[in-house]
Amino acid sequence: MSSFNQLMLSAWIKQRASELGFSACGIAPAGYLEDEAPRLEQWLKHGLHGEMKYMENNFDKRLDPRKLVDGAKSVIVFLKNYFPKTTIPQNENYILSKYAYSEDYHNVIKDKLYQLIDELKQKAGNINARPFVDSAPVLERAWAEKAGLGWTGKNTCFIVPKKGSFFFIAEIITDLELACEQISLTDRCGNCRKCIDACPTQAIIAPYVIDAAKCISYLTIELKSQIPADFEGKLHDRMFGCDICQDVCPWNRFSSAHDEPRFIPDQALHDMKKDDWSNLSRDLFDQLFKKSAVKRTRYEGLMRNIRFLSSEPDQE
Ligand code: SF4
Ligand code: SF4
Repeated sequence: MSSFNQLMLSAWIKQRASELGFSACGIAPAGYLEDEAPRLEQWLKHGLHGEMKYMENNFDKRLDPRKLVDGAKSVIVFLKNYFPKTTIPQNENYILSKYAYSEDYHNVIKDKLYQLIDELKQKAGNINARPFVDSAPVLERAWAEKAGLGWTGKNTCFIVPKKGSFFFIAEIITDLELACEQISLTDRCGNCRKCIDACPTQAIIAPYVIDAAKCISYLTIELKSQIPADFEGKLHDRMFGCDICQDVCPWNRFSSAHDEPRFIPDQALHDMKKDDWSNLSRDLFDQLFKKSAVKRTRYEGLMRNIRFLSSEPDQE
């Protein structure tokens, strides 16, 4: 394909991404993530991934998308805003991470990526293209950086200038050669360390390094065993995930509400209070979280978290 046609097709992809409700789209050339390799190796070596043993698998595939998709030439990166118009009341309540307010984002985003791939095939012929949404084998923040969309902050969240960090990241890896972004944005955290100071479990052990085993998101979602007693009084009522290091980030002053109808939470979630959560029945759990990512912990997992929180002494 000529470079003119690559440019035209890349522009069309970005236009369609916007029409499908993505907040941003950028393209990077598929290749080995040289800078990420030592970082990932050290992170795993120091056991900072906790019980997430799956992180140890597919080391080579994580660093090279050509090992995930035959003949991969381009990584198309998409950002989808999930910042809610209204926060579910947090006062005297157990708190859900904002990304879990509504229908599971994996399904919402995958539907859009499949539609885009179908349309791309109609335009570009029989290409190889695979969608990935928050998928373990893809180092999504590294790709979003390479696609020129923002930078990874000291809290390890991906930050978009003047838009903040409440974005899902997704990719299409394809053997189609496209016009790629030429610039990566520089880190704009500067001297700020608000996220590090605000983290109630000191999980950000150094700028840009999270000890997942101390992170409330891991403790309330990934951890299968009991939450260690060391964390009593430190979870700040978070029952599924944690947004504290994003909520304090100055860049999130720029967050604006998403316009995705499938991300609007059920009104019943707004009406729940601590007592309702403590007495949550399996039926109500199924009803509230029918299509939600919260199903990942299952009823037992969420109730484990609620019991832990309800037995906590005063917060530190
Ligand atoms: S998500 Fe919560 S626990 Fe994890 S690093 Fe951020 S503030 Fe700390
Ligand atoms: S709170 Fe400050 S240091 Fe942390 S990610 Fe945001 S800008 Fe960077």
